[in-house]
Amino acid sequence: MPRKRSMVDYGKCRPEHCKDGICLAAQACPNKVMRQEAPYEMPDVHPTMCVGCGACMEACPLGAVRVM
Ligand code: SF4
Ligand code: SF4
Repeated sequence: MPRKRSMVDYGKCRPEHCKDGICLAAQACPNKVMRQEAPYEMPDVHPTMCVGCGACMEACPLGAVRVM
């Protein structure tokens, strides 16, 4: 079975709706696998390093992160 990993839905992600443009999902990642280059930028994930824990998905207020 394939390992779970996090995916950002770039159709839903709106960094401008997150306080100060800071991605809460990236902040929540215990492994710093989800990263945001700068405030107001959409985050990206390094899929090979994601452990599929789901912390990012729970943290995103817009439901823009899925773990599957
Ligand atoms: S993934 Fe979620 S928390 Fe992160 S910038 Fe996008 S909307 Fe905000
Ligand atoms: S599922 Fe866990 S390890 Fe993967 S990006 Fe989200 S918080 Fe980080």
